[in-house]
Amino acid sequence: MKFRRPPPPCPRAVTYRWAPAATAAGRQIITLLDGRGRDIGHVDYQVCHPCGAAHVNTIAIAGPWQGMGLGREALHRAADPWPTYAWSTSRQSSEGRKFFAAMAEETGMDFMPGAGGCPHITAQPPGPGSRTGRALL
Ligand SMILES: [Zn+2]
Repeated sequence: MKFRRPPPPCPRAVTYRWAPAATAAGRQIITLLDGRGRDIGHVDYQVCHPCGAAHVNTIAIAGPWQGMGLGREALHRAADPWPTYAWSTSRQSSEGRKFFAAMAEETGMDFMPGAGGCPHITAQPPGPGSRTGRALL
């Protein structure tokens, strides 16, 4: 028996690969990989320890994988180690705003939209992890 369609997305098979920042306050990326190691989304964020500031540049999950809590899990992995930091996000789509509002409620962290973070964060050049054109949450 042959299936023409790929198997349905299985969120339990997803793994999270973390790429640490190369510089202080630099970009860190958590990439989500499906069971075959394919890139299905990412969180791109920065943390500045001297300032206690953190910033989410982008969070994106590929279409078929949306609505499974993967963005929520990815953001927890990024933000949970630094719950007392002032978290901000880039300007968000309406979907993104809803997502961060729900996450703010869940975590008690603010995720201030449209704020840039501290000067160390804003001074970082866009890294190779800066990607656009992916389906946002
Ligand atoms: Zn700073």
